[in-house]
Amino acid sequence: EITLGVMGGGQLGRMFVHAAQRMGFFTAVLDPDPHSPAGRVSHHHIQTSYTDPDGLARLAQVAQAITTEFENVPAPALATLAHSRPVAPAAASVAIAQDRAAEKAHFVRCGVPCAPYAVIETAEQLAAVPASLLPGILKTARMGYDGKGQARVRTHDELVQAWSAMQMVPCVLEKMLPLQLECSVIVARGSDGSCVNLPLQRNLHRDGILAVTEVYAGNVPEALEARAIAAAKSIAQGLDYVGVLCVEFFVLDEADPAAAGLGGLVVNEMAPRPHNSGHYSMDACDVSQFELQVRTLAHLPLVQPRQHSPAIMLNLLGDIWPEDGSGGVPPWNDVLALPGTHLHLYGKLKASRGRKMGHLNITGPSIEAVRSTALQAAQILGIDAF
Ligand code: ATP
Ligand code: MG
Ligand code: MG
Repeated sequence: EITLGVMGGGQLGRMFVHAAQRMGFFTAVLDPDPHSPAGRVSHHHIQTSYTDPDGLARLAQVAQAITTEFENVPAPALATLAHSRPVAPAAASVAIAQDRAAEKAHFVRCGVPCAPYAVIETAEQLAAVPASLLPGILKTARMGYDGKGQARVRTHDELVQAWSAMQMVPCVLEKMLPLQLECSVIVARGSDGSCVNLPLQRNLHRDGILAVTEVYAGNVPEALEARAIAAAKSIAQGLDYVGVLCVEFFVLDEADPAAAGLGGLVVNEMAPRPHNSGHYSMDACDVSQFELQVRTLAHLPLVQPRQHSPAIMLNLLGDIWPEDGSGGVPPWNDVLALPGTHLHLYGKLKASRGRKMGHLNITGPSIEAVRSTALQAAQILGIDAF
């Protein structure tokens, strides 16, 4: 009987638990929230803070190997666990992904271009920011997600104000780039160095939150996909990474002078875990990103996943739940009457604006059929078309 442990009890942990249990593993989740989506479906639920030494000791006692599902699980907690159990990804990799300055330095080390940027930790660094980085986006180095902890600034004065509004915490300023589209690549790397990938995901964000992911042959030009996959693999290899890693990219509008000299494709950021943009793999691929996570953790073979159907994923945010206090839910019956719709709900007790409550995967015989179904589902649910 083997138990796999996960730090964090959100939806990513829940889908990891499901994948692990399907393959015969027992699971343990550490999360302070008694109603956490993963904790509620796991064999063991250790309800304590991520830094509680007793909780970490209990997790290491019940679980033979441990992973993480939440970017902001403190890296030192993973380092503590690694004294007694294999931990994947390693604390050092997670620590780099948790800090935008360290993350960008790693991209540069790997020879993968990212947006021109400056690290801002001191007033001197702020004063020395070159005009070529404006207009830009100021991002806190740590803890940002879904576009939180960011400010768009056009002038040096606005930059000074924005940094002050952010309490002068360490930040990076990135040049604002002209985006043609956004995409991401998920790789899984084993401790033996073997590395496989899911096909490239094309992503649409709304209000800083992922809204739609489309995956089908030709969603971006083939050469671009090959470059992004190679870049993601070199980023993983440069970390000696073990586990599932998602790398987000920008494809630039090269007609715009602000894209000059960047080669058309730049890396944005990485997530040391399965990613929202990889959820389509649960229904459209023969191996999902969560099964890949289980395989990397349990030292099972990694095989290149095969996508067997074009797919579109629609994120289901709390915005589409009725606000009348009736406890009602969106019209799932109507959506599930459409062929090729796969509903995933995370078991969260309360819907709120922008909160990720679930996702809908749509598969079908062709991307045209999938898109037509996805547009119907979006209309039924009151989600903007794409
Ligand atoms: P996530 O939830 O994906 O972790 P995040 O809060 O870490 O998001 P980023 O991915 O850094 O945020 O940025 C959010 C979005 O803002 C990007 O997906 C992109 O649409 C836009 N954006 C970020 N940086 C730039 C840039 N340098 N130029 C143009 N647009 C950008
Ligand atoms: Mg991020
Ligand atoms: Mg992002």
